[in-house]
Amino acid sequence: MSYENGSGGGGCLSALLTLLLLPYIIAIYGYALLAIMVILIIEWLQEHIQTILLYGLPVLTAVVLIKTGLVSKLYQRVMAKRLKVRVFTPSTNLYCYWCTRKLGLQSWERHGKYYCQDCYEKGRS
Ligand SMILES: [Zn+2]
Repeated sequence: MSYENGSGGGGCLSALLTLLLLPYIIAIYGYALLAIMVILIIEWLQEHIQTILLYGLPVLTAVVLIKTGLVSKLYQRVMAKRLKVRVFTPSTNLYCYWCTRKLGLQSWERHGKYYCQDCYEKGRS
């Protein structure tokens, strides 16, 4: 009964038209909203350009300085670790200053020279 109703068919047609045009309407609304937002942002920036420059630039420079400082600190730490490793590595390959025996973990230092235990005890007595 409602299928043959004229006004019902018109409503169906208008609904169909709305459905067909809905993506375009949404797109137009979206573009309009985007344009309005961009205009509002630009206006806000123009009004607050001095504030942005006054507060934004120092904050930006501080952030950059902190970041670069941290980077340099990290770099220094890495380099220190590498230097430690380089200093430590040859110390495991030390030889006795007198008998040229290879020194393991048992090395005895005297006046900046390294001796094996026997030579250390000999030089002591
Ligand atoms: Zn020795």
